[in-house]
Amino acid sequence: MTQRYQTTTFRLSANRLDQLPADTGREVAFAGRSNAGKSSALNAISGRRQLARVSKTPGRTQMINIFEVGPEQRLMDLPGYGYARVPEAVRQHWHGLLQRYFEIRQSLGGLILLMDIRHPLTPLDRQMLTWCEARQLPCHVLLTKADKLKRGPAQNQLQQLRRALSTDFGTVAGEGFSAQLFSATTRQGLAEAHGVLDGWLGGP
Ligand code: GDP
Repeated sequence: MTQRYQTTTFRLSANRLDQLPADTGREVAFAGRSNAGKSSALNAISGRRQLARVSKTPGRTQMINIFEVGPEQRLMDLPGYGYARVPEAVRQHWHGLLQRYFEIRQSLGGLILLMDIRHPLTPLDRQMLTWCEARQLPCHVLLTKADKLKRGPAQNQLQQLRRALSTDFGTVAGEGFSAQLFSATTRQGLAEAHGVLDGWLGGP
């Protein structure tokens, strides 16, 4: 069901965990290396070209930007990581904050992890997966910009990633770690991504 995402709206930006909305209802976090295509994916998922522009606003790229799909149903846009020019102190602040967010947030039902299909599984991507594993949180990887590769090589990347997810990480109860091809440009994989979100957010 696609329509429910079209009324997604920006709610607020948070710099500290105590600024987050009450830990009730359901939420799904979006994470990825800077430039992996997270904003484009959020825009495609909501069918709103400008939805995630807030995440690109100077001063907000290092915040958790929170979007509401419906009452008590949130998409949490986590700060992009791996950006070389971020000062070490800021990097550490965010590392600690995100780790703690994964540990304590009860309403967090799953992580959508975005990886550029040409550069998957960087060390920081693995860090995110390790936090999911520790918390037994399901993670679904969008291999983004799938339109940049031909069909065969794109499928190869997906198979390789799926193999790495099952060999390098322990099992997560239930659905575990999964992955798909995605393109915000061609909308490839959009229905599949909506299906995963539907499952985690529950209810219409
Ligand atoms: P973010 O930093 O993770 O939010 O990444 P953006 O969404 O801003 O995307 C980074 C760059 O990748 C931009 O130049 C986008 O136009 C490009 N991009 C994002 N998604 C796609 C896609 O599906 N296909 C192609 N070809 N380019 C994309």
